[in-house]
Amino acid sequence: MRMSRLFLRTLRDDPADAEVDSQRLLVRAGYIRRVASGIYSWLPLGYRVLRRVEQIVREEMDRAGAQELWLPITQPLELWERTGRNQAYGPELFRLQDRRETGFCLSPTAEEVITATVANEYSSYRDLPVNLYQINWKYRDELRPRFGLLRGREFLMKDAYSFDLDLDGLKRTYQEMFDAYTTVFTRCGLTFRPVEGEAGAIGGDVNHEFMAVAAVGEDAFVWCRSCDYAANTQVAVRKSGERPEGRRTASPIKDGPAGEASPTGEMEKVHTPALPGIAGVAEHLGITPDHMLKAIAFAISSEDGDDELALAVVAGDREVNPYLFAQAVAPRTARLLTDEDFDTHPEIPKGYIGPHYERVALVVADAGLRDADHGWVTGANEVDHHVRNAVLGRDFHVDVWADLATVVTGDPCPRCGAPLSVDRGIEVGQVFQLGTKYSEALDCNYTDESGEQHPMVMGCYGVGVSRVVAAIAEEHHDEGGLAWPAAVAPYQVHLVALAGKGQAAGDVAATADRIYAELTEAGVEVLYDDREASPGVKFADADLLGMPVRLTVGAKGLGRGVVERRLRATGTDDELALDDVVPAIVGGTE
Ligand code: ATP
Ligand code: MG
Repeated sequence: MRMSRLFLRTLRDDPADAEVDSQRLLVRAGYIRRVASGIYSWLPLGYRVLRRVEQIVREEMDRAGAQELWLPITQPLELWERTGRNQAYGPELFRLQDRRETGFCLSPTAEEVITATVANEYSSYRDLPVNLYQINWKYRDELRPRFGLLRGREFLMKDAYSFDLDLDGLKRTYQEMFDAYTTVFTRCGLTFRPVEGEAGAIGGDVNHEFMAVAAVGEDAFVWCRSCDYAANTQVAVRKSGERPEGRRTASPIKDGPAGEASPTGEMEKVHTPALPGIAGVAEHLGITPDHMLKAIAFAISSEDGDDELALAVVAGDREVNPYLFAQAVAPRTARLLTDEDFDTHPEIPKGYIGPHYERVALVVADAGLRDADHGWVTGANEVDHHVRNAVLGRDFHVDVWADLATVVTGDPCPRCGAPLSVDRGIEVGQVFQLGTKYSEALDCNYTDESGEQHPMVMGCYGVGVSRVVAAIAEEHHDEGGLAWPAAVAPYQVHLVALAGKGQAAGDVAATADRIYAELTEAGVEVLYDDREASPGVKFADADLLGMPVRLTVGAKGLGRGVVERRLRATGTDDELALDDVVPAIVGGTE
């Protein structure tokens, strides 16, 4: 491709709305253009990267035995009613009506349509298993579209759906897809980690999120350096009942100013007005926050239908993980009390609740508190007051012990006990064991050998193809611009002709033209900067656009019969004799 013809304008300045590097650079380099919030056009260079990622995904899905098809983006809402997801998706679903006022939505995912499709075609155990996928645009009216391609409202997704006879079959398919994902993200040049994830609106139990490691990632995940435990922080647990090493001994309780707070002393109320949070109270009382109890109020469902008040109790230096709390009280449902709840119930002493609060139906406490050998400072259930010397079993009781605290760096791994690390990541893909939720709702059944009917057992598997493009850009760039891994680069070679003036100009142009023709002939994709521009402009653009190899043909080099080669990612330079250029490049890109 000759740059003199390429539909491209690079920008010298960062776009005003850019929040992250991938967005900033993809816009500056002319790969994408914003059309509306969360909606982008893919210009020629960007579209080539998107298609490369798409092709990698396609090849690995095909290799794993999945079959590609194409489902409609415009889907009848009636199907979404049957699974309850018209409601469940809420305002994130783009809804529209046709001229007869029939409701449709723009597909945010496609479990409904694929399940209905398979239900129509297949009905026997002999038909299964089958695994189907599409690579298609998805639509979600995200609350906060941001970070360019990372959280768009229109985005390209590969979504696969598997149908098996039973759970064993599903588990086999799941593992195949898990392995295929590992290959996909490796081929894309991403540093990533599969982590256990939270089951979302889609339902299902076992699932993994593939996280591209990135500081700008919206998810945090926990991982162990010693074993393969890794989980989204939303669901991660630590080894039960253990605190990070060293913390227990950091207690000033024995000989500090809070020495009177030993279990033998009576519980006593202290006035703690206008102190900002745990840290303020701890400082005021001369203790460390891990000697305080934090009690977070939830409304949980009860048998008679009315909600009851429940407390999640963790040490003052920890955060309550609402997901773990919900698991601890299941099958009852749990909901964090909101400001409105506190407004309608002014009797609840917001910010000063302690575990001995009398209106509470259930106290769930973090297992890490169980063996404490000291009294606690906690809310006095009265505004502006705390108590100290609250002793477990004497002054307050715990109904349920569970892991409740959000895991932090250094917590012990639940599998092997080694210290855990926390990192941030971009969720580039997810694999789900769905089970029969959709097949039951949409009558997707098969008849077994003895004539009995069963719902098919499903899995679903997503890759955010356009998000992957941004994740690659996040990982592979520097000050000068993008630095694509060869597998996804729009072109392998950026050929720069520095024509200069006079007699040499003609030689340079002729040589560059010849190299361009020969490389193209040899099947190498070349972006050829044949423009009349200064070397500074050309090099800056080459750095910004980020092809893996830059070849520079200039008068000086030609005088010595060489062309300069620079690798974008490492910045390493060498020179190639004119005759060696094509074989070296062809050999290097194979
Ligand atoms: P997130 O938690 O980031 O919103 P999700 O759990 O809603 O993601 P899925 O429903 O599992 O996402 O969709 C499959 C894949 O599609 C995700 O792993 C992600 O890579 C991609 N994806 C989801 N939402 C978006 C979006 N708004 N923009 C770009 N890609 C997205
Ligand atoms: Mg989402």
